[in-house]
Amino acid sequence: MIRFVTGNEGKVHEAREYLDESVEQVDYDYTEIQGELKDIALYGSRETFAETPGDGPVLVDDTGLFVEALSGFPGPYSAFVEDTLGIERVWEIAQREENRRATFRTVLAYYDGETAETFEGSVRGRIVAPRGDDGFGYDPIFAHDGRTFAEMSTAEKNAISHRGRALAKFADWLAERNE
Ligand code: IMP
Repeated sequence: MIRFVTGNEGKVHEAREYLDESVEQVDYDYTEIQGELKDIALYGSRETFAETPGDGPVLVDDTGLFVEALSGFPGPYSAFVEDTLGIERVWEIAQREENRRATFRTVLAYYDGETAETFEGSVRGRIVAPRGDDGFGYDPIFAHDGRTFAEMSTAEKNAISHRGRALAKFADWLAERNE
């Protein structure tokens, strides 16, 4: 049993499609330190393991959207920016730029009290005007191969997405470890 640490149902839904092992959602608001995604995820996994009941391994997912023309903004501040400006404003800001390329990055941090490991996944795309009803977060303004993530099914998004790629690496590592 993996304790997947997030308040975000969308992330849990995607993780459940990937991992054979059952995923239990732990909605614990870990401290988001300032730094790179990897530092944030590692710190969050250790804090959650120490502060929440249960002794199973925890998995923290820290994700950010990095817009090239904005020097990687909002990056590690993506959640704050979604909550404050909203994704429409991010589109309006990116729209002024000729270069609309962007990258989604996910770092998964696993911690079981002894072993700490991280798994990374990324996908390149473009910022576009909001389209589509599925997914969550920035999905409506992130297009890959002509379609936004909000226009894809969960399986289609997982097959190419930042999170899907990180989950695939994690699932392989876990399977090898359990052999
Ligand atoms: P966090 O990793 O929970 O801090 O999320 C960072 C921000 O990115 C939040 O605003 C999320 O809604 C957003 N986000 C995380 N994963 C995805 C995704 O797969 N698609 C779109 N937005 C995402």
